[in-house]
Amino acid sequence: MVVVNESLCDLCGTCAGVCPANCIKILETKVLIDYNQCVECLNCAAICPFEAIRVSGEEVIKV
Ligand code: SF4
Ligand code: SF4
Repeated sequence: MVVVNESLCDLCGTCAGVCPANCIKILETKVLIDYNQCVECLNCAAICPFEAIRVSGEEVIKV
C-alpha cells in the first residue's frame, strides 16, 4: 500500500498524472488515494519529486 507523507508533499499533482488507475486526487490540503482502485504499480512513489510517497512505510528505491 502506498502512503503519502503529508509533511513532505507539496500537492504538485505529479503523482496523479502518472497513475494508471486514475485513483489519486489532489485536494486543497492533502492527496487522496482510492485504495479500492489502486493497482500498486508504484508509479506515484517513483515519480514524486519530494519522495513523499512510501510503500508500507518503507523507503522507495529510486532508479
Ligand atoms: S507527486 Fe509527491 S509532492 Fe506531488 S502531489 Fe504527489 S505526493 Fe505530493
Ligand atoms: S501505486 Fe499506482 S495505481 Fe496506486 S495510487 Fe500509485 S500510481 Fe496509482
